[in-house]
Amino acid sequence: MADSQRNLRPDIYQFGLGHFKITNILDGYFHREDMHPFTATNASASEIETVAKEHLLPYPKLEHNFVPTLIETPNALIAFDPGFGKQAPGPTAGWYNRLLEKTGYSPDNVTHVIISHGHPDHIANLTTDDLPTFKHAEIIISRTEYEFWSGDAAIPDFRQPTRQMFQEIVIPLADRCRFIEPDASIVDGLTALNAFGHSAGHMAFHVESEGQELMMLSDTIAHYAVSLANLEWQFSMDDDPLMAVKTRKKLVEQAVSCKVPIIAFHMPFPSVGYIEKTNASFRWVPSTYQMNI
Ligand SMILES: [Zn+2]
Repeated sequence: MADSQRNLRPDIYQFGLGHFKITNILDGYFHREDMHPFTATNASASEIETVAKEHLLPYPKLEHNFVPTLIETPNALIAFDPGFGKQAPGPTAGWYNRLLEKTGYSPDNVTHVIISHGHPDHIANLTTDDLPTFKHAEIIISRTEYEFWSGDAAIPDFRQPTRQMFQEIVIPLADRCRFIEPDASIVDGLTALNAFGHSAGHMAFHVESEGQELMMLSDTIAHYAVSLANLEWQFSMDDDPLMAVKTRKKLVEQAVSCKVPIIAFHMPFPSVGYIEKTNASFRWVPSTYQMNI
């Protein structure tokens, strides 16, 4: 049964990290029937079905979550990839602005909006009815990403609407934008990481306050079971699949070795967990109460 209107589910989750307060919001979800090839184009259907069975998932169905993050620091309120907003393609997404109100934050309090990359689920809510949703916020985006979608590089047909949306929404906001390179310090305790591949200038982030750390992987991993089962598998939405594989390997290894909590935009809500190395591959370990203590 479709549960968009009927069943309550957790949609806001907050925890502290040093002097920072982290808020994850469920902007919504899509239900799909194409776990293969959506989650991995270069795997066989039976390989993906095997992974699904190992995780007790109802292959070929899947739920794809959209989970934007806010970070409140002593001096800033930072919104990462604030979801679809009014441009959501259906009733099961676009919940961000309503839920933001429930947190007690207002779009007017947001000082920075950080865009990990220019795909629709990450940029659509930058404007509402053609006006900036976050009136007072500086927008931070990687220069490579901005230049890619502003330009006319060859892209597959299914990405033409992405470019059009980017050009309609982001380019008019250029005078509010700060263009950054990987490793840039965005505010105290928040550093951009090179995660190029999912898109031309895709970024991940390292967060640190009072010695407590967190990594935000954005879309480096797309499905919690499949993406970590085999790091060579290419996600159908990766714009440069080979570069995305390289980035995935680098950031997953880093996440495993530093054992810090991970947030990634498409993980199942509340999208907080750890990455564990298993004998043959890797595994997403959802956070239970670690962040509450
Ligand atoms: Zn995405």
